[in-house]
Amino acid sequence: MTTTLITGANKGLGFETARRLVAAGHTVYVGSRDAERGRRAAGELGARPLLIDITDDASVAAAAKTVEAEGGLDVLINNAGIEGRGEGNGVIGAADTTADTLRELFETNVFGLVRVTHAFLPLLRRSAAPVMVNVSSGLASLTGMSDAASPGHFYPGIAYPASKTSVNMITVQYAKAFPDIRINAVEPGFTATDLNGNTGVQTVQQGAEIIVRMARLGQDGPTGGYFDAQGPLPW
Ligand code: NAP
Repeated sequence: MTTTLITGANKGLGFETARRLVAAGHTVYVGSRDAERGRRAAGELGARPLLIDITDDASVAAAAKTVEAEGGLDVLINNAGIEGRGEGNGVIGAADTTADTLRELFETNVFGLVRVTHAFLPLLRRSAAPVMVNVSSGLASLTGMSDAASPGHFYPGIAYPASKTSVNMITVQYAKAFPDIRINAVEPGFTATDLNGNTGVQTVQQGAEIIVRMARLGQDGPTGGYFDAQGPLPW
């Protein structure tokens, strides 16, 4: 039996990933920073709710303690994230980006991911088949963002892409440090969720595809990579 935690799984891509992994036979913890939203989502899916605010040390530590007491963890999906849009739900452009804009994004997308990983690593290292999936973005790719022909090239914001490029580097470094854990970054594609005011062009079913695939990776699969549903992406 594989036990999986998905952060930010009360809605969006995390919720759809949870639905698919429950159907595949995983025991799934639906991570949510709000107890009621988490309970409702987990109840709907036949999963376990887990209260976890990834920006809060005490919340993350308590969540790790709960999962450890209930038997441990095999798969960690670092999915919770924010885009941090500005007024009128527009992307915050270069001229309006401040240190605080970055600080807020990094607190969730980068520091939150490391906070959760650090707390759950001891549990993963006890698993017979440990896997970690970091939900990154196509906007993380320095190659893509500096290529005018790339679909993400138009994106005007600084903080969100920079936070996801950090996620990619963190993925590479964790993968080297823990060769027994399959650790990969994934790009779900531009998906209609609350994150982008539902402007995405894909459904959550399409977006969750690569997250689910990498979560179900056997121990022979790749590690330290960056993938979308079509295959490896350029860094
Ligand atoms: P979403 O529908 O807005 O879901 C984001 C989830 O993260 C929600 O459950 C949210 O909880 C949770 N969250 C935010 N801050 C949190 C915190 N401090 N602690 C715990 N949970 C927190 O967005 P989504 O599109 O599914 O995003 C999921 C991941 O995919 C993100 O990492 C995002 O960057 C990435 N991604 C999305 C797209 C896309 O086009 N949608 C493309 C590439 C990558 P609340 O409900 O409490 O706010």
